[in-house]
Amino acid sequence: MGDKKDTLTDWLRDAYAMENQAVEMLERQSERIKSYPEVLAKVQEHVEVSNRQADRLKQCLQKLGADPSAIKTGVAMLLGNAQSLSGIVVGDEIVKAGIFNYAFEHFEIANYRALIAAAESAGETEIARLVQQNLDEELEMASWLEQRLPQLTKTYLERKEETSAAEAKR
Ligand code: MG
Ligand code: FE
Repeated sequence: MGDKKDTLTDWLRDAYAMENQAVEMLERQSERIKSYPEVLAKVQEHVEVSNRQADRLKQCLQKLGADPSAIKTGVAMLLGNAQSLSGIVVGDEIVKAGIFNYAFEHFEIANYRALIAAAESAGETEIARLVQQNLDEELEMASWLEQRLPQLTKTYLERKEETSAAEAKR
């Protein structure tokens, strides 16, 4: 059981770092997607959700007697260079951000599914329950993005066409 709890502690720390990274990325994005207010509002809402998720993970770590001050933050993500991907360049960045966020939510979903199994395996049902709340929130965000991505892409392409047409007239 000791081994399982150690592994669970490690993975909770990774998830905590993942949420901190999520907050950082989403905050950086919100400065650049102001012309898409609906997406901006959802991204800002998800910053708050992610902060609460990080708190929940901290609570789990405390339950296991892990020293919260030893929690690592800003560790390199497993998902390639998440930071540069989410820093995104001009032009089609709204579409790229939508794609990136959709992928990132699934990265979180996969991590939480494994974490719940690890918590159950270690007999930590309260931790499993807390992590399940995080999982449900990621599933909600992933489904929101899934529904919006096609229309968002079309809106971007239409706006782009309008801009080029206006420029051609000048
Ligand atoms: Mg999250
Ligand atoms: Fe998320």
